[in-house]
Amino acid sequence: MTQDVQLHDKVFELYLSEGYIQERVKDIAEGINRDFSGKDPVFVSILNGSFLFAADLIRYLNFQCQIEFVKAASYEAMQSTGEVKTLIGFNQAVEGRPIVIIEDIIDTGRTIKQLMNDLTKYNPESVHVATLTLKREALIESFDPDYVGFEVPNVFIVGYGLDYDQLGRNLKGIYKLKDQ
Ligand code: 5GP
Ligand code: MG
Repeated sequence: MTQDVQLHDKVFELYLSEGYIQERVKDIAEGINRDFSGKDPVFVSILNGSFLFAADLIRYLNFQCQIEFVKAASYEAMQSTGEVKTLIGFNQAVEGRPIVIIEDIIDTGRTIKQLMNDLTKYNPESVHVATLTLKREALIESFDPDYVGFEVPNVFIVGYGLDYDQLGRNLKGIYKLKDQ
């Protein structure tokens, strides 16, 4: 049985299964439960890509929490445009509270650095980062997110929130471009 999917003109093959992703999401939630329970953090989910990761992650948390959804798109099709738009839609009282950013993927690291910088202006106590995937090889300057689901090589991936030209977000697993 083939596990390939076609999106637009490209074929993708299964890379990380649904079960494996859920295990890692639970591991990250355990870490966050341990580190942030009782600290009243605000979670900031970066749209669109992190919506499924954020939805699953917060359901594994064992304390009451607030979540905000912000937009910061910078990627067109399969290439980074290099320019990062600043965040829109941020509306929480975070002064003196920890922020935990929920991201789908960190590639060059430009987006996350910009977001952390933008959020710092709201005077939070701290800004931490939980990312489902990290392309360490693609980082333009070194960066260590606090929680990482998977380190992935420099290949294009889709699924579980990540898209290829707006398709593929609803796939339960993560797929990589075939023959890359
Ligand atoms: P960065 O600013 O770190 O270079 O790029 C981060 C953004 O690029 C992510 O939020 C995501 O939108 C996009 N991106 C980077 N690599 C991939 C990938 O392999 N697949 C998909 N679908 N998007 C990616
Ligand atoms: Mg993103």
